[in-house]
Amino acid sequence: MSTTSSVKTFIPLSVPQIEGREWEYVRECLDTGWVSSVGAFVDRFEAEFAAYVGSTHAIGTSCGTAALHVMLLLAGVKPGDRVLVPSLTFLATANAVSYAGATPLFVDADPATWQMDPVDGRKALTEARDAGERVGAIMPAHLLGSPADVTAWQALAAEFSVPLVHDAAEGLGTTWGGKSLSQQGDLAAYSFNGNKIITTGGGGMITTDDPDLARRAKHLTTTAKTDAIEFIHDEVGFNYRLTNVLAAMGCAQLEMLPEFLDRKRRFAARYTEALRDIPGVRTFPEPVGGGSSYWLYTIQIDAEEFGGSSRDLLRHLESESIQTRPLWQPGHLSPAYQATAPRACPVADRLNQECLSLPCSTGLTDDDQERVITAIRAFAG
Ligand SMILES: *Cc1c(COP(=O)(O)O)cnc(C)c1O
Repeated sequence: MSTTSSVKTFIPLSVPQIEGREWEYVRECLDTGWVSSVGAFVDRFEAEFAAYVGSTHAIGTSCGTAALHVMLLLAGVKPGDRVLVPSLTFLATANAVSYAGATPLFVDADPATWQMDPVDGRKALTEARDAGERVGAIMPAHLLGSPADVTAWQALAAEFSVPLVHDAAEGLGTTWGGKSLSQQGDLAAYSFNGNKIITTGGGGMITTDDPDLARRAKHLTTTAKTDAIEFIHDEVGFNYRLTNVLAAMGCAQLEMLPEFLDRKRRFAARYTEALRDIPGVRTFPEPVGGGSSYWLYTIQIDAEEFGGSSRDLLRHLESESIQTRPLWQPGHLSPAYQATAPRACPVADRLNQECLSLPCSTGLTDDDQERVITAIRAFAG
């Protein structure tokens, strides 16, 4: 490599890829003045999204967190309830529970899959029952694009008579038994934040097959207005609307999704092949019984065997202009949740310390991926 090329181009972790008909669709909104909370693209995005995930209805929202909040209300979560969530997830999963007036009950991760562990889930459900607490819902988040053990969670939900709803914010394109996460229960919620597999800049979606839940989702997310002339609202609703401009972008991004998923799978296969023989590196777990979207390819580092911690590797890659990221601080350790009787989640703690997500924007080039691989191998060597 030339000595003059010391300034290397930055390789981000996961950034939007605008290469479809986004401009064309957004221009149509601007040219026609249909820029706000109703419009043809909202209806179209909802219909096409529902068709893609195989559900009867989809309701757009202003962000994934808003979709989670309303989904929990639709599931019947009440103030004072507990809701099972993974400790290891982006904190919005737990925050949505708080917005519904309930308290998260943090469940540890399965060390094999990194997903919310049904064995610890049974313990949490039993603890809640013994303490006389009502559990309003179970909400696995399907992390990094891989599915939690849906079959085990469905069985626990049935046994304890608790609704199962899915934080599918990272799970667009994820499957279990060949079906989407929307097809695994009454309700699922998605996110179109900037780093997700498709993006509207910011946005979300609730899906359901139940027409009553769909009507109520639309009602609650659009201020619960029952009379558009007199401005009568029959309950305290929310302004969680997805705008037509953003839905236009969503339609274009959804057209790209099959191609984006192909690329994610290809990046994952290449990373796994190139990294699996490095001592101390555990590559992204292959999902059992499901299909991963490989949203954010992540490795686990055994510091002793590898000769450095995940954070040492993060700093090394940063010095090479390569952005990586640890998994989120587990919810049970978050300062935001210290008031809520925390449970021990030792696997989540360890994964937080040991895991690192690698660059996998859908626009990542083969050359950039090779640069990431070379930099990791150089550090290991
Ligand atoms: C991104 C994300 C959310 C929040 O979605 P926003 O659109 O950013 O509000 C919730 N849960 C998980 C697991 C996420 O990854």
